[in-house]
Amino acid sequence: MFETLSQRIRAAVDKLRGRGRISEADLKTTLREIRMSLLEADVNFEVAKAFVNAVQEKALGAQVLESLTPAEQILTIVYEELVQTLGGEAKQPTLKSEGNLWFMVGLQGSGKTTTSGKLAAFYKAKGRRPLLVAADTQRPAAREQLRILGEKVGVPVLEVADGERPEVTARRLREHLTFDYRDLVIVDTAGRLQIDEALMGELAKLKEVLRPTETFLVIDAMTGQEALGVSRTFDERVGISGLILTKLDGDARGGAALSARYVTQKPIVFAGVSEKIEGLEPFYPDRLASRILGMGDLQTLLEKAKAVELEGPLKTPGEITLEDLITQMRQMRKMGSFADILKMIPGVSRALPPGFTVDEKAINRLEAIVLSMTREERRDPRILNASRRKRIAAGSGTSVQEVNRLIKTFEETKSMMKSLAKQKGRGAFRNPFG
Ligand code: GDP
Repeated sequence: MFETLSQRIRAAVDKLRGRGRISEADLKTTLREIRMSLLEADVNFEVAKAFVNAVQEKALGAQVLESLTPAEQILTIVYEELVQTLGGEAKQPTLKSEGNLWFMVGLQGSGKTTTSGKLAAFYKAKGRRPLLVAADTQRPAAREQLRILGEKVGVPVLEVADGERPEVTARRLREHLTFDYRDLVIVDTAGRLQIDEALMGELAKLKEVLRPTETFLVIDAMTGQEALGVSRTFDERVGISGLILTKLDGDARGGAALSARYVTQKPIVFAGVSEKIEGLEPFYPDRLASRILGMGDLQTLLEKAKAVELEGPLKTPGEITLEDLITQMRQMRKMGSFADILKMIPGVSRALPPGFTVDEKAINRLEAIVLSMTREERRDPRILNASRRKRIAAGSGTSVQEVNRLIKTFEETKSMMKSLAKQKGRGAFRNPFG
């Protein structure tokens, strides 16, 4: 996710690593590089400017220039600013005990239909009783697609007929709900390839009649921040309450995600992360920010771990050891996309070579390194002196450099996360199960 942006920001900050005090000119250079990487990731110009100004102000305020660990300090500030840019606190959709009706709007191909199915699956798993309404009469195959998704998820689908008037749809919906109790109705509406006056009129009319409790604009993150331009029109003509970004798993550069909040003034509530029905995650600004900075996404990892019932105690970032890492690595093989999961472990994403994809061999090497350590060494990597490292490299068939890299990034990230958690106490990294 956002590989280039991620690498470039880290590279800019890494240049300060290991240095004692830095000058104002050094700080300026770093900030300029961060700004360039944001712009190249297609982040909105205003957003990039505001971002860098905020980081500069905080860095000067926090006396980073006086600090002995300027890189860590700046990374912490960049992290906090990323969280703010992405929306600050996570925002969940409004969900009453019943009578919820959600409108899904967006351009054709944005992922509206797929996301409707995903939402139905997501909330069904949470004990809700969703109903899907196939109201996309524009795209020929959309209703069929939703019917198939509904069958797969085990959620009924009410299909709107061609040219059906909104009043008729509303009546049919009411009738359906009298014999089949449902507490969350998700309406997949019609999209067009481009903003279209007639379509906006139709959507506004349907909305007026159905009166949804939430209206989500679905945005394809691959199309960059340009896609956000349409949000203004949708908001003016139809009114939107939140955004869902799709295709964050693709090679989206990050522009849409990072600019969305600022440009639209609407919160991002969900993110689509695969084509599969379970490829939908609630959007957490802090988690995405730590993923972008290669600090891992411990929170999501812990949740996934819980879902497959990982054994062993779950820990806070500061307590995690290399021993936990190996246990998790093994058990995570059960959890699907290994590369993605691996990147959520603090330190690991930074230890992986640039452009890392699903490469079982690379994973095996990391595993081999940890396996070649004694239990004592895994628990406390500080005892790993040169001769121990040499032994581990030989034992795992890797090199001392690889061993060093794994340990260094693991320790650095761990200590940074620990200081963040301590500093803030806002619970950004609090273990939800601990
Ligand atoms: P609609 O026209 O807005 O209803 O778009 P669809 O729901 O048909 O989605 C368009 C394409 O995007 C389909 O091929 C989907 O499988 C794909 N898609 C939707 N969401 C995601 C996502 O989060 N990740 C990926 N990789 N593909 C997605």
